[in-house]
Amino acid sequence: MWSDLSSQWQTVFEEAWKAFGFGSTPIGAAIFDKDGKLILSDRNRSREADTVNREISHAEANALRRMDTNKTDSRSVVLYTSMEPCPMCMGMILMGHIKTVHYAALDAYCGMVHLTKQDPYYIGKKLTCIHEGGEGELFQLTIQSYYELRHLERGASGKVISRFYETNSKAVENAKKLYAGKILDTLSQNSTPCDEVFDIIMKM
Ligand SMILES: [Zn+2]
Repeated sequence: MWSDLSSQWQTVFEEAWKAFGFGSTPIGAAIFDKDGKLILSDRNRSREADTVNREISHAEANALRRMDTNKTDSRSVVLYTSMEPCPMCMGMILMGHIKTVHYAALDAYCGMVHLTKQDPYYIGKKLTCIHEGGEGELFQLTIQSYYELRHLERGASGKVISRFYETNSKAVENAKKLYAGKILDTLSQNSTPCDEVFDIIMKM
């Protein structure tokens, strides 16, 4: 349940839910100092009106671009993201000298954490990636599957959601039930806070 989450994860999921409200891919990210204090948070902004390059406006990328390295040592911070980083964001994490990443959900479609164990350049960077899983993963894959169902309706192939199903069938089933009644759209339109949405999904 929401009350069981650390403040770091609550921040990240609040950003993901905010992104959902804009119609963007619902992913959130946040950067914390070594003591766990929030430096900044951001979200996928792919459907926000003032975004100039939508396809690359990912949560982790947006957060990393805003971090002032004149004030903050990249090597000491911890990046939290609701979804396993994609090829672009993994590249930015690596080139930005981030050393620790926590991610809630596995991204069986385009997650690139496996490179940290396979690619010699990644291995040399000694990046630690921690998969949180559990309720956070269930929440993330539920709201992101819901987002993907919209695309399916508009003619997308369904390959993303089928990969999500392999990781967490419960999340995809949740999303289908919610999507049938457009429940998340209604909750978003009513400005329902993330904590309530999270607990509704956990009780399914
Ligand atoms: Zn990304």
